[in-house]
Amino acid sequence: MKVLVVNCGSSSIKYQVFDMTDESVLAKGLVDRVGIPGTVLKHEPTGKDEVVIKKDLPDHTEGMKLVLEVLVNPEYGVIQNMEEIGAVGHRVVHGGEQFADSTVIDDKVKQVIRECFDIAPLHNPPNLMGIEACQELMPNVPHVAVFDTAFHQSMAPENFMYALPYDVYEKYKVRRYGFHGTSHFYVSHRAAEMLGKPFEECKIITLHLGNGASMAAIKNGRVIDTSMGFTPLEGLVMGTRCGDIDPAIVFYLMEKLNMNADEANSYFNKKSGMLGLSGVSNDLRDVIDAAASGNKRAQLALDVYHTRVKGYIGNYVAQLNGCDCLVFTAGVGENGIDTREAICRDLDYLGIKLDPVKNKVRGKDVDVATDDSKVRIFVIPTNEELVIARDTKRMSGK
Ligand code: ADP
Repeated sequence: MKVLVVNCGSSSIKYQVFDMTDESVLAKGLVDRVGIPGTVLKHEPTGKDEVVIKKDLPDHTEGMKLVLEVLVNPEYGVIQNMEEIGAVGHRVVHGGEQFADSTVIDDKVKQVIRECFDIAPLHNPPNLMGIEACQELMPNVPHVAVFDTAFHQSMAPENFMYALPYDVYEKYKVRRYGFHGTSHFYVSHRAAEMLGKPFEECKIITLHLGNGASMAAIKNGRVIDTSMGFTPLEGLVMGTRCGDIDPAIVFYLMEKLNMNADEANSYFNKKSGMLGLSGVSNDLRDVIDAAASGNKRAQLALDVYHTRVKGYIGNYVAQLNGCDCLVFTAGVGENGIDTREAICRDLDYLGIKLDPVKNKVRGKDVDVATDDSKVRIFVIPTNEELVIARDTKRMSGK
Protein backbone atom coordinates (compact mmCIF):
# COMPACT_ATOMS: atom_id res chain seq x y z
CA MET A 1 0.00 0.00 0.00
CA LYS A 2 1.18 3.52 -0.81
CA VAL A 3 0.24 6.39 1.46
CA LEU A 4 0.38 10.10 0.73
CA VAL A 5 1.06 12.25 3.80
CA VAL A 6 -0.01 15.88 3.59
CA ASN A 7 0.68 18.80 5.92
CA CYS A 8 -0.97 22.05 4.86
CA GLY A 9 -0.04 25.40 6.36
CA SER A 10 -1.62 28.73 5.49
CA SER A 11 0.59 29.16 2.41
CA SER A 12 2.38 25.83 2.14
CA ILE A 13 1.81 22.16 1.37
CA LYS A 14 4.34 19.58 2.56
CA TYR A 15 3.97 16.04 1.28
CA GLN A 16 5.61 12.61 1.40
CA VAL A 17 4.76 9.39 -0.37
CA PHE A 18 5.43 6.16 1.55
CA ASP A 19 5.51 2.62 0.29
CA MET A 20 4.15 0.90 3.39
CA THR A 21 5.40 -2.53 2.40
CA ASP A 22 8.78 -1.46 3.74
CA GLU A 23 7.95 2.06 5.02
CA SER A 24 10.33 3.59 2.48
CA VAL A 25 9.88 7.18 1.32
CA LEU A 26 9.36 7.36 -2.44
CA ALA A 27 9.31 11.13 -2.62
CA LYS A 28 8.87 14.23 -0.54
CA GLY A 29 8.29 17.82 -1.37
CA LEU A 30 7.01 21.25 -0.52
CA VAL A 31 4.83 23.78 -2.27
CA ASP A 32 5.66 27.20 -0.86
CA ARG A 33 3.84 30.52 -1.29
CA VAL A 34 0.47 28.99 -2.15
CA GLY A 35 -1.89 31.89 -2.90
CA ILE A 36 1.02 34.37 -2.96
CA PRO A 37 2.83 35.40 -6.17
CA GLY A 38 6.00 33.35 -6.59
CA THR A 39 4.61 29.89 -5.78
CA VAL A 40 7.32 27.25 -6.01
CA LEU A 41 7.18 23.47 -5.77
CA LYS A 42 10.28 21.53 -4.74
CA HIS A 43 9.98 17.80 -5.35
CA GLU A 44 12.58 15.28 -4.17
CA PRO A 45 12.09 11.80 -5.62
CA THR A 46 14.23 9.40 -3.56
CA GLY A 47 17.51 8.68 -5.33
CA LYS A 48 16.92 11.24 -8.07
CA ASP A 49 17.62 14.95 -8.52
CA GLU A 50 15.38 17.57 -6.98
CA VAL A 51 12.82 19.10 -9.34
CA VAL A 52 11.80 22.76 -8.93
CA ILE A 53 8.64 24.08 -10.60
CA LYS A 54 7.67 27.74 -10.45
CA LYS A 55 4.02 28.41 -11.19
CA ASP A 56 1.68 30.81 -9.40
CA LEU A 57 -1.16 28.90 -7.76
CA PRO A 58 -4.19 30.62 -6.27
CA ASP A 59 -5.19 28.07 -3.61
CA HIS A 60 -4.55 24.70 -1.95
CA THR A 61 -6.67 22.79 -4.48
CA GLU A 62 -4.52 24.03 -7.33
CA GLY A 63 -1.42 23.35 -5.21
CA MET A 64 -2.53 19.76 -4.59
CA LYS A 65 -3.36 19.33 -8.29
CA LEU A 66 0.21 20.23 -9.15
CA VAL A 67 1.55 17.82 -6.49
CA LEU A 68 -0.51 14.98 -7.96
CA GLU A 69 0.66 15.82 -11.49
CA VAL A 70 4.25 15.72 -10.30
CA LEU A 71 3.75 12.38 -8.52
CA VAL A 72 2.62 10.66 -11.73
CA ASN A 73 5.01 12.49 -14.07
CA PRO A 74 6.75 9.90 -16.29
CA GLU A 75 10.14 11.55 -15.81
CA TYR A 76 10.36 12.40 -12.11
CA GLY A 77 7.13 10.96 -10.70
CA VAL A 78 7.14 8.00 -8.29
CA ILE A 79 3.86 6.26 -9.15
CA GLN A 80 2.22 5.23 -12.43
CA ASN A 81 -1.22 6.60 -11.61
CA MET A 82 -3.18 7.97 -8.67
CA GLU A 83 -4.96 4.64 -8.09
CA GLU A 84 -1.73 3.42 -6.50
CA ILE A 85 -2.32 5.75 -3.52
CA GLY A 86 -4.39 3.68 -1.09
CA ALA A 87 -5.00 6.38 1.52
CA VAL A 88 -4.08 9.94 2.44
CA GLY A 89 -2.92 10.99 5.91
CA HIS A 90 -3.39 14.59 7.01
CA ARG A 91 -1.62 16.34 9.83
CA VAL A 92 -4.17 18.29 11.85
CA VAL A 93 -2.94 20.46 14.68
CA HIS A 94 -5.96 20.61 16.97
CA GLY A 95 -8.44 17.85 17.69
CA GLY A 96 -9.79 19.42 20.88
CA GLU A 97 -11.00 16.90 23.46
CA GLN A 98 -12.68 14.71 20.87
CA PHE A 99 -9.72 12.82 19.51
CA ALA A 100 -7.27 10.73 21.51
CA ASP A 101 -6.36 8.80 18.36
CA SER A 102 -6.20 9.30 14.61
CA THR A 103 -9.44 8.92 12.72
CA VAL A 104 -10.89 8.43 9.25
CA ILE A 105 -12.26 11.80 8.12
CA ASP A 106 -16.00 12.13 7.58
CA ASP A 107 -18.29 15.16 7.83
CA LYS A 108 -18.49 14.86 11.62
CA VAL A 109 -14.69 14.89 11.94
CA LYS A 110 -14.47 17.93 9.68
CA GLN A 111 -17.05 19.66 11.86
CA VAL A 112 -14.89 19.08 14.97
CA ILE A 113 -11.80 20.40 13.13
CA ARG A 114 -13.91 23.45 12.24
CA GLU A 115 -15.09 23.87 15.84
CA CYS A 116 -11.41 24.10 16.85
CA PHE A 117 -10.77 27.09 14.50
CA ASP A 118 -11.34 29.38 17.44
CA ILE A 119 -8.60 27.80 19.55
CA ALA A 120 -6.20 27.04 16.66
CA PRO A 121 -6.81 29.93 14.26
CA LEU A 122 -3.44 29.69 12.49
CA HIS A 123 -3.39 25.96 11.94
CA ASN A 124 -6.79 24.28 11.71
CA PRO A 125 -8.21 26.41 8.86
CA PRO A 126 -5.35 25.58 6.44
CA ASN A 127 -5.35 21.94 7.65
CA LEU A 128 -9.03 21.67 6.72
CA MET A 129 -8.42 23.44 3.42
CA GLY A 130 -5.84 20.78 2.59
CA ILE A 131 -8.22 17.97 3.54
CA GLU A 132 -10.98 19.36 1.36
CA ALA A 133 -8.64 19.92 -1.59
CA CYS A 134 -7.39 16.32 -1.36
CA GLN A 135 -10.88 14.88 -0.92
CA GLU A 136 -12.01 16.74 -4.03
CA LEU A 137 -9.09 15.36 -6.05
CA MET A 138 -9.07 11.87 -4.50
CA PRO A 139 -12.69 11.12 -3.54
CA ASN A 140 -12.36 7.33 -3.58
CA VAL A 141 -9.68 6.73 -0.94
CA PRO A 142 -9.86 7.02 2.85
CA HIS A 143 -8.50 10.27 4.29
CA VAL A 144 -7.17 10.03 7.83
CA ALA A 145 -6.60 12.88 10.30
CA VAL A 146 -3.63 12.59 12.66
CA PHE A 147 -3.81 15.19 15.43
CA ASP A 148 -0.92 16.96 17.19
CA THR A 149 -2.99 17.00 20.37
CA ALA A 150 -4.12 13.35 20.40
CA PHE A 151 -1.20 11.73 22.25
CA HIS A 152 -1.58 14.22 25.12
CA GLN A 153 -5.26 13.48 25.67
CA SER A 154 -4.29 10.91 28.31
CA MET A 155 -3.40 13.73 30.74
CA ALA A 156 -5.44 13.70 33.95
CA PRO A 157 -7.49 16.74 35.01
CA GLU A 158 -4.91 17.78 37.60
CA ASN A 159 -2.48 18.27 34.71
CA PHE A 160 -4.78 19.71 32.08
CA MET A 161 -6.88 22.10 34.19
CA TYR A 162 -5.90 25.72 34.83
CA ALA A 163 -6.84 27.33 38.13
CA LEU A 164 -9.45 29.53 36.47
CA PRO A 165 -13.19 29.67 37.14
CA TYR A 166 -14.47 26.24 36.14
CA ASP A 167 -17.07 27.54 33.71
CA VAL A 168 -14.44 28.77 31.20
CA TYR A 169 -13.46 25.13 30.78
CA GLU A 170 -17.05 24.08 30.24
CA LYS A 171 -18.04 27.02 28.02
CA TYR A 172 -14.85 27.77 26.10
CA LYS A 173 -12.79 24.61 26.53
CA VAL A 174 -9.97 26.55 28.15
CA ARG A 175 -7.63 23.79 29.34
CA ARG A 176 -4.19 22.46 28.54
CA TYR A 177 -3.97 20.39 25.32
CA GLY A 178 -0.29 20.13 24.39
CA PHE A 179 1.11 19.91 20.86
CA HIS A 180 3.89 18.10 18.91
CA GLY A 181 2.10 14.90 20.03
CA THR A 182 3.09 12.95 16.93
CA SER A 183 6.74 13.69 17.56
CA HIS A 184 6.59 12.84 21.29
CA PHE A 185 4.79 9.61 20.31
CA TYR A 186 7.42 8.60 17.76
CA VAL A 187 10.52 9.29 19.84
CA SER A 188 9.10 7.83 23.07
CA HIS A 189 8.26 4.54 21.32
CA ARG A 190 11.69 4.44 19.74
CA ALA A 191 13.24 5.18 23.16
CA ALA A 192 11.42 2.20 24.69
CA GLU A 193 12.92 0.02 21.95
CA MET A 194 16.37 1.40 22.74
CA LEU A 195 15.80 0.75 26.46
CA GLY A 196 14.75 -2.82 25.58
CA LYS A 197 11.62 -2.44 27.71
CA PRO A 198 7.91 -2.53 26.90
CA PHE A 199 6.67 1.03 26.27
CA GLU A 200 3.96 0.45 28.89
CA GLU A 201 6.60 0.00 31.60
CA CYS A 202 8.78 3.04 30.84
CA LYS A 203 9.20 6.46 32.43
CA ILE A 204 10.31 8.77 29.65
CA ILE A 205 10.93 12.51 29.33
CA THR A 206 10.88 13.71 25.72
CA LEU A 207 12.38 17.06 24.70
CA HIS A 208 11.20 18.27 21.28
CA LEU A 209 13.46 21.29 20.86
CA GLY A 210 12.92 22.96 17.50
CA ASN A 211 11.91 26.48 16.65
CA GLY A 212 8.77 25.58 18.56
CA ALA A 213 9.65 23.50 21.61
CA SER A 214 7.87 21.29 24.09
CA MET A 215 8.54 18.51 26.57
CA ALA A 216 6.43 15.58 27.70
CA ALA A 217 6.45 13.23 30.67
CA ILE A 218 5.33 9.73 29.68
CA LYS A 219 4.57 7.02 32.22
CA ASN A 220 3.43 3.48 31.45
CA GLY A 221 2.63 4.38 27.86
CA ARG A 222 0.63 7.51 28.62
CA VAL A 223 1.48 11.21 28.55
CA ILE A 224 0.99 12.52 32.08
CA ASP A 225 2.15 16.07 31.42
CA THR A 226 3.43 18.28 28.62
CA SER A 227 4.78 21.81 28.58
CA MET A 228 2.59 23.43 25.91
CA GLY A 229 -0.90 24.28 27.05
CA PHE A 230 -4.08 25.83 25.69
CA THR A 231 -1.90 27.05 22.82
CA PRO A 232 1.74 26.39 21.85
CA LEU A 233 2.75 29.56 23.69
CA GLU A 234 3.09 27.96 27.14
CA GLY A 235 6.16 26.22 28.48
CA LEU A 236 9.71 26.40 27.20
CA VAL A 237 11.50 29.41 25.74
CA MET A 238 11.21 29.04 21.95
CA GLY A 239 12.53 30.76 18.83
CA THR A 240 10.02 33.60 19.00
CA ARG A 241 7.63 32.52 21.79
CA CYS A 242 8.15 33.53 25.39
CA GLY A 243 6.88 30.32 27.02
CA ASP A 244 5.88 30.59 30.70
CA ILE A 245 5.51 34.14 32.00
CA ASP A 246 3.47 35.84 34.69
CA PRO A 247 0.12 36.41 32.93
CA ALA A 248 -0.10 39.86 34.54
CA ILE A 249 2.68 40.95 32.16
CA VAL A 250 0.19 40.65 29.30
CA PHE A 251 -2.18 43.37 30.53
CA TYR A 252 0.70 45.49 31.84
CA LEU A 253 2.43 45.55 28.44
CA MET A 254 -0.82 45.94 26.51
CA GLU A 255 -1.22 49.22 28.38
CA LYS A 256 2.43 50.34 28.26
CA LEU A 257 2.97 49.47 24.58
CA ASN A 258 -0.56 50.42 23.57
CA MET A 259 -1.32 47.01 22.05
CA ASN A 260 -4.70 45.49 21.30
CA ALA A 261 -5.32 41.75 21.78
CA ASP A 262 -4.10 40.79 18.29
CA GLU A 263 -0.95 42.84 18.67
CA ALA A 264 -0.27 41.34 22.09
CA ASN A 265 -0.79 37.84 20.67
CA SER A 266 1.77 38.54 17.98
CA TYR A 267 4.16 40.18 20.49
CA PHE A 268 4.34 37.12 22.74
CA ASN A 269 4.28 34.59 19.88
CA LYS A 270 6.48 36.22 17.26
CA LYS A 271 8.68 38.86 18.86
CA SER A 272 9.67 37.18 22.11
CA GLY A 273 11.62 34.03 22.97
CA MET A 274 15.23 33.76 21.84
CA LEU A 275 14.71 36.48 19.25
CA GLY A 276 13.34 39.03 21.70
CA LEU A 277 15.69 38.25 24.55
CA SER A 278 18.93 37.96 22.57
CA GLY A 279 18.09 40.61 19.97
CA VAL A 280 20.09 38.41 17.57
CA SER A 281 17.86 35.76 15.99
CA ASN A 282 15.25 33.10 16.60
CA ASP A 283 17.70 30.58 15.18
CA LEU A 284 19.60 28.99 18.05
CA ARG A 285 22.74 28.55 15.95
CA ASP A 286 22.98 32.31 15.48
CA VAL A 287 22.44 32.93 19.18
CA ILE A 288 25.13 30.37 20.08
CA ASP A 289 27.58 32.01 17.64
CA ALA A 290 26.81 35.47 18.99
CA ALA A 291 27.32 34.31 22.58
CA ALA A 292 30.63 32.69 21.62
CA SER A 293 31.83 35.99 20.22
CA GLY A 294 31.01 37.79 23.45
CA ASN A 295 27.41 38.99 22.99
CA LYS A 296 26.14 39.11 26.60
CA ARG A 297 22.44 39.25 25.73
CA ALA A 298 22.84 36.18 23.54
CA GLN A 299 24.51 34.36 26.46
CA LEU A 300 21.72 35.49 28.78
CA ALA A 301 19.10 34.15 26.34
CA LEU A 302 20.88 30.78 26.25
CA ASP A 303 21.08 30.68 30.04
CA VAL A 304 17.34 31.37 30.33
CA TYR A 305 16.60 28.72 27.69
CA HIS A 306 18.67 26.02 29.42
CA THR A 307 17.39 26.87 32.89
CA ARG A 308 13.77 26.60 31.76
CA VAL A 309 14.38 23.15 30.29
CA LYS A 310 16.18 22.00 33.44
CA GLY A 311 13.25 23.19 35.54
CA TYR A 312 10.87 21.05 33.48
CA ILE A 313 13.18 18.03 33.79
CA GLY A 314 13.06 18.40 37.59
CA ASN A 315 9.29 18.83 37.51
CA TYR A 316 8.82 15.76 35.35
CA VAL A 317 11.23 13.53 37.29
CA ALA A 318 9.16 14.41 40.38
CA GLN A 319 5.85 13.68 38.66
CA LEU A 320 7.14 10.42 37.17
CA ASN A 321 8.78 9.44 40.46
CA GLY A 322 11.88 8.45 38.50
CA CYS A 323 13.02 8.42 34.91
CA ASP A 324 14.45 5.79 32.54
CA CYS A 325 15.56 8.20 29.85
CA LEU A 326 15.60 11.69 28.43
CA VAL A 327 15.06 11.93 24.67
CA PHE A 328 16.37 14.88 22.67
CA THR A 329 14.73 15.50 19.30
CA ALA A 330 13.90 18.14 16.61
CA GLY A 331 16.35 20.67 15.12
CA VAL A 332 18.02 21.75 18.36
CA GLY A 333 17.62 18.45 20.20
CA GLU A 334 19.09 16.40 17.35
CA ASN A 335 21.92 18.77 16.41
CA GLY A 336 22.60 21.03 19.38
CA ILE A 337 25.63 19.41 20.99
CA ASP A 338 26.34 22.40 23.26
CA THR A 339 22.66 22.77 24.09
CA ARG A 340 22.34 19.15 25.22
CA GLU A 341 25.48 19.49 27.28
CA ALA A 342 24.32 22.70 28.95
CA ILE A 343 20.90 21.25 29.76
CA CYS A 344 22.31 18.07 31.30
CA ARG A 345 25.06 19.84 33.28
CA ASP A 346 24.80 19.40 37.06
CA LEU A 347 21.88 17.00 36.97
CA ASP A 348 23.88 14.12 38.45
CA TYR A 349 21.81 14.32 41.65
CA LEU A 350 18.92 13.09 39.47
CA GLY A 351 21.08 10.33 37.98
CA ILE A 352 21.48 12.19 34.68
CA LYS A 353 25.09 12.16 33.42
CA LEU A 354 25.95 13.08 29.84
CA ASP A 355 29.15 11.80 28.24
CA PRO A 356 30.65 14.81 26.40
CA VAL A 357 32.51 12.57 23.95
CA LYS A 358 29.52 10.37 23.03
CA ASN A 359 27.48 13.57 22.82
CA LYS A 360 29.43 14.81 19.81
CA VAL A 361 26.84 13.43 17.37
CA ARG A 362 24.13 14.86 15.19
CA GLY A 363 20.96 13.42 13.81
CA LYS A 364 21.11 9.71 14.61
CA ASP A 365 19.65 7.34 17.20
CA VAL A 366 22.26 7.14 19.92
CA ASP A 367 22.71 6.97 23.70
CA VAL A 368 24.92 9.83 24.89
CA ALA A 369 24.81 9.09 28.64
CA THR A 370 27.87 7.88 30.56
CA ASP A 371 27.97 4.16 31.30
CA ASP A 372 27.20 4.80 34.98
CA SER A 373 24.35 7.27 34.33
CA LYS A 374 21.17 5.97 36.01
CA VAL A 375 19.11 7.74 33.36
CA ARG A 376 19.84 7.06 29.66
CA ILE A 377 20.10 10.14 27.43
CA PHE A 378 18.99 9.45 23.87
CA VAL A 379 19.26 11.53 20.72
CA ILE A 380 16.50 10.36 18.37
CA PRO A 381 15.65 12.16 15.11
CA THR A 382 11.89 12.58 15.01
CA ASN A 383 9.75 11.27 12.16
CA GLU A 384 6.25 12.69 12.36
CA GLU A 385 5.46 11.78 8.73
CA LEU A 386 6.14 8.10 9.40
CA VAL A 387 3.73 8.13 12.36
CA ILE A 388 1.10 9.76 10.12
CA ALA A 389 1.70 7.17 7.38
CA ARG A 390 1.47 4.26 9.87
CA ASP A 391 -1.70 5.64 11.45
CA THR A 392 -3.21 6.22 8.02
CA LYS A 393 -2.58 2.60 7.08
CA ARG A 394 -3.91 1.38 10.45
CA MET A 395 -7.07 3.50 10.40
CA SER A 396 -7.89 3.06 6.73
CA GLY A 397 -7.87 -0.70 7.21
CA LYS A 398 -10.69 -0.38 9.74
P1 ADP B 1 10.61 23.70 13.45
O1 ADP B 1 10.22 22.40 12.77
O2 ADP B 1 9.95 23.94 14.77
O3 ADP B 1 10.62 24.90 12.55
P2 ADP B 1 13.25 22.48 13.64
O4 ADP B 1 12.93 21.23 14.38
O5 ADP B 1 13.60 22.39 12.21
O6 ADP B 1 12.12 23.56 13.87
O7 ADP B 1 14.44 23.19 14.43
C1 ADP B 1 14.93 24.42 14.04
C2 ADP B 1 15.95 24.86 15.05
O8 ADP B 1 17.02 23.90 15.09
C3 ADP B 1 16.59 26.21 14.73
O9 ADP B 1 16.48 27.07 15.85
C4 ADP B 1 18.03 25.83 14.49
O10 ADP B 1 18.88 26.82 14.94
C5 ADP B 1 18.21 24.60 15.34
N1 ADP B 1 19.43 23.90 14.97
C6 ADP B 1 19.73 23.29 13.81
N2 ADP B 1 20.99 22.84 13.86
C7 ADP B 1 21.51 23.20 15.06
C8 ADP B 1 22.77 23.05 15.71
N3 ADP B 1 23.76 22.43 15.11
N4 ADP B 1 22.92 23.54 16.96
C9 ADP B 1 21.90 24.16 17.58
N5 ADP B 1 20.69 24.34 17.02
C10 ADP B 1 20.50 23.87 15.78
